Amino acid sequence: GEFRLCDLERLGVLGNGNGGTVYKVRHRPTGALYALKTLSAADSAARGAAREVEILRRTDSPSVVRCHAVFSTPSDAKLVLLELMDGGSLDSVLRGRGSRPFPEAALAEVAAQALRGLSYLHSLKIVHRDIKPANLLASSRGLIKIADFGVGKILRRCLDPCATYVGTTAYMSPERFDPDTYGGDYDPYAADVWSLGLAVLELRLGYFPLLPAGQRPDWAALMCAICFGEQPPHIRSFVAACLQKDSKRRASVADLLAHPFVADRNPDDSARALRDLLAEAPSHQHQHQHQHQHQHRHHHHH
Ligand code: ATP
Ligand code: MG
Repeated sequence: GEFRLCDLERLGVLGNGNGGTVYKVRHRPTGALYALKTLSAADSAARGAAREVEILRRTDSPSVVRCHAVFSTPSDAKLVLLELMDGGSLDSVLRGRGSRPFPEAALAEVAAQALRGLSYLHSLKIVHRDIKPANLLASSRGLIKIADFGVGKILRRCLDPCATYVGTTAYMSPERFDPDTYGGDYDPYAADVWSLGLAVLELRLGYFPLLPAGQRPDWAALMCAICFGEQPPHIRSFVAACLQKDSKRRASVADLLAHPFVADRNPDDSARALRDLLAEAPSHQHQHQHQHQHQHRHHHHH
């Protein structure tokens, strides 16, 4: 390939996660900036790393973080060279603005772009399984892209059941906890819709609306937030459509792209609101505190 590891100069750390460290790097021959993510070769993570690389190789969409090269180290760790998202993740953007809620117009643009990414992934039979603000990355140009395929899955069969207990507990849909009750064998893609709805609600409220790790979501608290909060009706019904407990009744990505919250937004105003919001956030490089307990994800299968 055109990229050589020895041509990359480390400039700093962009993020730390379960998978490994993400560095900001400069490609010396061109001066171009990228993100370099290390995927550890450690036993249990190894399968996840291989899957992440396979998904990154397959995807080519403006709404999914692009991968420019994959390197293998002698110890069999992988390094993936990703496009640099200079706005950082949406959870760091939220923290950077002191957890002030995103304005609705900016959020409609976030939802529209994330839905485009999900629609693309689902068309390739890829379920992400870990949609949350930390895995939605922003560029200062106002683009939002889906990142982090560490627990993503490519469905080989048409309706491959996908109830494995992976992802980040707090954003996991009811059918991932209890497939029998919540129609988990019906539509494996619906779990990503749930997580997106929760992420949108979190960015709108400025705080995570459900209970901490390991506990079943508190529906009463959630429904209070949805019904009695100050969100205008469109976002309320958008989030409610995503957060249908029964996955059979949950909106599809196509439904949501046609929802008035997204479809009736003024695209210019929305895009401008998002660019303004991203421009006012301080650099995400200072925002790398520990993630909360509930943000840690599982690699546990049952
Ligand atoms: P976790 O499981 O904790 O979400 P992870 O190890 O799976 O993390 P990623 O989510 O891919 O890894 O990356 C961790 C963090 O690094 C992101 O939340 C983001 O802040 C930063 N990051 C990742 N990729 C990029 C990129 N392409 N551009 C800018 N920042 C990035
Ligand atoms: Mg992540």
